Order: sequence, then structure tokens, then C-alpha cells
Amino acid sequence: MSTFFIYIIYINMKVFKFLYFTFLIFLICLFFSNCKRKERIIIIKEPNKYDVLVNKKYKLPEDYIPNDLEEVNINYAYEHKYLRHEAKIAFENMAYDASKLGYKIILVSAYRNYQYQQSLYQEYVDTMGIEYAKMCSAEAGHSEHQTGLALDIMGSNGDYNLFSESKEFVWVKENAHKYGFILRYPENKTKITGFKYEPWHYRYVGTTLATYLYENDLTLDEYKEKSNL
Ligand SMILES: [Zn+2]
Repeated sequence: MSTFFIYIIYINMKVFKFLYFTFLIFLICLFFSNCKRKERIIIIKEPNKYDVLVNKKYKLPEDYIPNDLEEVNINYAYEHKYLRHEAKIAFENMAYDASKLGYKIILVSAYRNYQYQQSLYQEYVDTMGIEYAKMCSAEAGHSEHQTGLALDIMGSNGDYNLFSESKEFVWVKENAHKYGFILRYPENKTKITGFKYEPWHYRYVGTTLATYLYENDLTLDEYKEKSNL
């Protein structure tokens, strides 16, 4: 009889051990799958660099404000817009050269601070829902506009949303790199950039890098990940 009980206890312990380890393995799997889903956000250490990568993974410090912001010539901007010195000069040169060819390029959005971006993103979430907001607007700290190097432009049809239908669109697409700008969110790279196609959004990176990216059909994300930032 006692041997029978010992046997029962032995079997129960085996079952218990089996369940215990199965549960443990389940918990470990759950932990790692969650880690994979939540990609780590990295705070940018050198936000002043012209080739700085700002995207859903790399975040600008909340208090980052470029120290060389300057107002863009009102002839090429809708109301008062600010860009970093070098980007401002490059943009004004591009807009001036375009105007000599009969094109009209107007800056509609340039530098935006952290707090402004926060309210802008929230507005998208409230009106369009979080999934749509994620594709067409950046959370505060994740917007290139905070660098003072990004610009949204419109052409002579007067609507940046319809920039791709303007006569200026093709000219800018083919010439922006000569002034140091890249089309930041191309149509065929949405999976890489994390943003939908934005024909109006350009980013200053300097002429050497802009030409290299243009000629090799690369986004800034691809280039920076390849060169290990
Ligand atoms: Zn933009």
C-alpha cells in the first residue's frame, strides 16, 4: 500500500515538474516576443549634424532647438518660416533658380518645435485615428521638422497636398540634390521610412550626400543603417 502511495506521489511530482517547466518556457517566450515588438527608442546624441537621422527609432531630445535658425526670405515662404542657416541659403538659392525658369516654389512648413509637433500629432490621432496618424505624422521628437533642416513645399497650384500635380514637382525632384536636398519619403520606400509617400517633404543633408543618395536611389535611413550611423 505504502509503495503504491509513493508511486502516486512520484507520478504527481513528475507531472508538476513538467507543468512547471512548460509554464516557465511560456513566460520566457512571452517576454522575448514583447521585446521584439517594442523597438527600443534611441535618443540622438548629435542632433546638430547635417546628416542626422530622425525617424521612428531615433528621437531628438525634447529640449533640442537648433542655434542657427534664420527666417526664410518671405518671397519664397508662406508667412514666417525658419530653417537652419545653411538649409535656408540652399533653399533660397533653389527657389530663386526655379523662379528664373518660370517655377514658383513656396515653403509652407519648416522648423517646428517639440511642443508644436506634440499638438499636431495629437490632432491627427483625434481626427484620423492612431494607425493613420502613425503613417502621416511623427510623434514629438521623431519629426525632422525639429531639426530645422526639413521643409514642406508647394508649387504654383497653391496646395502642398497636390504638389505632385504641379509643374514644379518634376523640376524639384530632378534638381533638389544639387542644392543639398533629398526627397525624404519616396513612394517606393514607405516600408523603410515608416511614412507614406510625401512628395512635398524635402530634407537638407548637404550637396555631397544628397547627390550620392539621389544617384543610388537610397533613403537616409538605408544609408545611415549601412554606415552604422
Ligand atoms: Zn514635412
